[in-house]
Amino acid sequence: MSFFEDVINTTKSAAATAGKKTDEAVRFTKLKIKESQTTSDIKSHFEKLGEMAYEMKKSENADAALFDAEIEEIDKLYAKLAEINHLLDDLRQEVTCTVCGAKTKSENAFCPKCGAKLPEKPAAAEEAAEVINENKDEENK
Ligand SMILES: [Zn+2]
Repeated sequence: MSFFEDVINTTKSAAATAGKKTDEAVRFTKLKIKESQTTSDIKSHFEKLGEMAYEMKKSENADAALFDAEIEEIDKLYAKLAEINHLLDDLRQEVTCTVCGAKTKSENAFCPKCGAKLPEKPAAAEEAAEVINENKDEENK
């Protein structure tokens, strides 16, 4: 291999690495946006729930089913938020301890804080793409 070819190959792989880093940064930013959107969604559902609780107390003909639906929606959003956090951990190469909630490097088998066994392996990159795509669908609704 000539010196020139060597330089080209080195540059190519450096560019590929930079491209991957950019992808990850974009994914990370999208997830952070989704995280704050979901958090504010949860907050507004809680506000609605508060209003409903007030009206239920005040009026005789309140619809309890609507109240339950609202709670169900909040549970769904919590599940979604947990998934987003899981994907963010994956991008940071971290896992969250299911016992104490401490964040640690994903190569650790046990939590350095409480000693609990850490979850197996972080989510695959494709999963992150799925979440982002699913979000796109929602925006189009
Ligand atoms: Zn722990």
